[in-house]
Amino acid sequence: MKSVVVVGAGIWGSSLALRLAESGWQVTLVEQHAPGNVRQSSAGETRLLRCAHGADDWYARLARQARDGWRRLGERTGVELYQEAGMMWFAGTPDGWEHASAQVLNDLGIPCEVLDPADGRRFFPDFRGDDLSFLLWEPNAGVIRARRATQVTADLARAAGVRLVRARAVPVAGDAAPYACAVEIDGEVRHADRVVWACGAWLPALFDGLPITVTKQDTLHFAVPAAWSVPETPAWVDHGASAYGHGDVDGVGMKATSDAEGRPYEPEHGSRAVDAESVEQARAYLRRRFPSLAAAPVLFSQVCQYALTPDAEWLLAEAAPGVWLLGGDSGHGFKHAPALAGYVAEVLDGERAPEPRFGLHERTPSRGLRTSGRVG
Ligand SMILES: Cc1cc2nc3c(=O)[nH]c(=O)nc-3n(C[C@H](O)[C@H](O)[C@H](O)COP(=O)(O)OP(=O)(O)OC[C@H]3O[C@@H](n4cnc5c(N)ncnc54)[C@H](O)[C@@H]3O)c2cc1C
Repeated sequence: MKSVVVVGAGIWGSSLALRLAESGWQVTLVEQHAPGNVRQSSAGETRLLRCAHGADDWYARLARQARDGWRRLGERTGVELYQEAGMMWFAGTPDGWEHASAQVLNDLGIPCEVLDPADGRRFFPDFRGDDLSFLLWEPNAGVIRARRATQVTADLARAAGVRLVRARAVPVAGDAAPYACAVEIDGEVRHADRVVWACGAWLPALFDGLPITVTKQDTLHFAVPAAWSVPETPAWVDHGASAYGHGDVDGVGMKATSDAEGRPYEPEHGSRAVDAESVEQARAYLRRRFPSLAAAPVLFSQVCQYALTPDAEWLLAEAAPGVWLLGGDSGHGFKHAPALAGYVAEVLDGERAPEPRFGLHERTPSRGLRTSGRVG
């Protein structure tokens, strides 16, 4: 039986552990805290699922597969992890990111519809779109209950035979080949056929020279009237303004927040208090787009972190024989997890090579894959 140690029980590590266990691998999953702990990027209350990725079709296809994965996981567990509320894209220019997205979605046969800005009033109780060129409606998009989904996935992994170890894993020093595919857990060196470091924002501190920077991201949810709830109110993204959100889910409030990268951040010890400036920014956006919510109070807030690569492409690379680094999610990885796990499992099995785009090469800065079109 092939063996693997997966380090990190965020949504990427937990989904991979589950997939490998279900395909016959002996899996150890090492996590320094608990699956769903608040320091994880995966422990956000909600995450958006969208297929639109500008001109890129690879991630669009993966997101579409992942949507099926989330729906299957929901049916299997009886927990509604994904709510298909649809997503409205607010396009500021006629030929920008949303236009490219519509072309790719149409080519792939993924439903979408170009609408007039005035149609926004059919989707939101109150909407102002006089600065917009058009709206792009993506009906098969929505909101994932992220923290819950991470815990459910880790539970399923355990039920599938994954051994979950609560410890901080350390890469084994030394160049000798026998030690390359090893990991130190609680002071003891363990060997496996493969080791996967799926450590999110902790990855750059574990391995030198990775093309990943970590930033603080404040997330805000506002208290809103019932009419602003999912699924009646959809998810939305204003790529040009780096703003996004969705209607109220589970009474946590309407999410309205920024995707622009925050300041450098340390995920283990950094303060988890949101900045007053972030509240002001979110409120200014509400005032402009959904004026009746201008005075809505903050109901819930969370601090999370991005693990950003310069080009927003992920990292999946074999750092030493059998030792894989999986990270650099760049703030757009959650939705893909069920499909990405299948992809990575095939790479570990040697059935396919990873896309060159995921390598350890120097990256050219680009923002095309994120929901953030604005720099800073
Ligand atoms: C504010 C915000 C909004 C986002 N919005 C979206 C969205 O709308 N849609 C979307 O698809 N994605 C979104 N993302 C991105 C998404 O959340 C991430 O892509 C995803 O959660 C990454 O999961 P992960 O498993 O790689 O990392 P994490 O969830 O951070 O998990 C890494 C785990 O590794 C553990 N670990 C680290 N080092 C060690 C060690 N040495 N030993 C043991 N354990 C270790 C950590 O404790 C942690 O639990 C967003 C992210 C943020 C911050």
